[in-house]
Amino acid sequence: MQEEKTCEGCGAKCCREANVWLEEPKTDEDFDEWKWLLSHKSLYIYNDSRYGWMICFETDCKFLDNESKCVNYANRPNLCKEYDIKDCIKYGSMKFDPILRNPEDVDELKKKLQKK
Ligand code: SF4
Ligand code: SF4
Repeated sequence: MQEEKTCEGCGAKCCREANVWLEEPKTDEDFDEWKWLLSHKSLYIYNDSRYGWMICFETDCKFLDNESKCVNYANRPNLCKEYDIKDCIKYGSMKFDPILRNPEDVDELKKKLQKK
């Protein structure tokens, strides 16, 4: 029997980050922009096996209370309403590779992409 998926005990992982789609860098300016982004704290860039390049801002939603509950539940954005527990960051089977955390990771990526 399949384990029932619930949010119990998760601590609202999905409400503690904001992920935004990015285009793959092509030009020197694009790579430089990613180096600039990765010079900031509390964010990283990754390649998601489903969606491609994404940037993750590691920051709590301002509507999350001290008990990890949403205080804006009735008016939460559609993105929150449509988020599927089967594919969420706790239970989903997506792979994140590579994960770039520092400006120098962009130099490595640039070498790899330019070899293709
Ligand atoms: S949807 Fe997934 S990540 Fe979000 S609170 Fe529920 S179990 Fe946690
Ligand atoms: S609005 Fe509510 S459900 Fe949406 S991310 Fe914020 S706390 Fe989570």
